[in-house]
Amino acid sequence: MAFYITTPIYYVNAEPHLGHAYTTIVADALARFHRLMGEETRFQTGTDEHGDKVMEAARKVGLPVKDFVDRISGRFRQTWDGLQISYDVFVRTTQASHLRLVQDILGRLYDQGDIYFGEYGGLYCFGCERFYLERELEDGKCPDHQTPPTFIKEENYFFRMGRHQEWLIGFIEDFPDWIRPERYKNEVLGFLREPLEDLCISRPKQRLEWGITLPFDERYVAYVWFDALLNYLTGLDYPEGAAFQHFWPSVQHLIAKDILKPHAIYWPIMLKAAGIDPFRHLNVHGYWQMAEGKMSKSLGNVVEPRMLAEIYGIDQVRYFFLREMVFGLDATFSEEALRTRINADLANDLGNLVARSLGMAFKYSQGVAPVPGDLEPEDKEVAAQAQDTAADFLRLFPELEFPKALARIWEFVGHLNRYIVATAPWELAKDPNAQPRLATVLYHQLEGLRFLAALLRPVMPTSAEKMAEYLGLDASQRSLLFPEALVWGGLAPGTTLKKGKPLFPRLE
Ligand SMILES: [Zn+2]
Repeated sequence: MAFYITTPIYYVNAEPHLGHAYTTIVADALARFHRLMGEETRFQTGTDEHGDKVMEAARKVGLPVKDFVDRISGRFRQTWDGLQISYDVFVRTTQASHLRLVQDILGRLYDQGDIYFGEYGGLYCFGCERFYLERELEDGKCPDHQTPPTFIKEENYFFRMGRHQEWLIGFIEDFPDWIRPERYKNEVLGFLREPLEDLCISRPKQRLEWGITLPFDERYVAYVWFDALLNYLTGLDYPEGAAFQHFWPSVQHLIAKDILKPHAIYWPIMLKAAGIDPFRHLNVHGYWQMAEGKMSKSLGNVVEPRMLAEIYGIDQVRYFFLREMVFGLDATFSEEALRTRINADLANDLGNLVARSLGMAFKYSQGVAPVPGDLEPEDKEVAAQAQDTAADFLRLFPELEFPKALARIWEFVGHLNRYIVATAPWELAKDPNAQPRLATVLYHQLEGLRFLAALLRPVMPTSAEKMAEYLGLDASQRSLLFPEALVWGGLAPGTTLKKGKPLFPRLE
């Protein structure tokens, strides 16, 4: 099976922020998960580099626009490297192959009559780079920018959207989880109750030069959304590329809710008009709201994701994002909530479990995984819990139920911690006749850790790798895929364990 996951290409008028980081971490965790499932996986991100806002941002800092976009696009790549984002393709809308692709598709749509020339007067928001209808405004203002739009009248090219409106409504109704979660599907069906206006897909060069020239009229550049959405095909070398044949249409887009309309309406209609199958899923998440209250000095007021990872640790930040936000709903970011998660879930629950289990194995078993003996009901229960946890995780994670999937893992962490208390290995150690029982208990703790190391790989790759190292797993065991890695008994008795630093130091 093929799995193609995309983030939006991020607009380079500003630096990467928490919202970008969330989308990208989700995409990365899913890409890692699907690779572990043995699926051929392609993960694409990139930067959106044309349009008014980019020109303006470059002017503000006094840089030629190309230099400016190179700089900010580089900043995004550095941020993703700093969060261990394992993307396969990074698309820039200024790259030559993208320019060619946009012009090809525009030319084709023009030739087949999907694009026409006309005059349009309307209310234009320069911030959004789009026209608004009266009814879309709030108190006469742009709902995003809270500024009144300007009336402008000009000749432009228009894309016939209405032609495909009925098809789109039918398609959404036929595939109820195409847009998920459901609330966003309903929002889109709501938009579609009104007749779709044709989309103005050009901007006159006298107003905006920084864009892709229309192949059929040199006086115009393409509307930035028409340009940007096509990046999802650029990264697959559409139309001839083997990657396109292989990965389309098994594509899943990840977006934040502010760009729902272009992705749920313009994009499928563009694909339909171009004769390309629709994508598999549009996955829509909410906003990170910043909590009232101060951020620490080192973090500053605008939280840079890279800085956050430098201060708190990459895996810690990845875990927090996935654990804290229900996919589709808004969530609140505060440094305090992050610190609480780190101390409670990571340092206390998981970190202590790892340290205790390994510590006892060194103390009572010479740092070697012991041979388990006869099983008591509580040992069988640990094995059963491990298998159930794995089954639940494998079901929940690809359905974007990240907090539930992680909470399920932490139930198992709790179970192992209680198992240690109930079996009290330190008591068994005092009794020469209890040595076989001690070996069984220690083995179950260590094998439980091996399950955790396997399950946490998509979410916390570095920590999972360290756990595997401490458990003495060799390269072939570490590269086992799901579900082979999740069969009880994978840790071979006699394996030499390794001592190491605590995984998650407690924050004071
Ligand atoms: Zn606006």
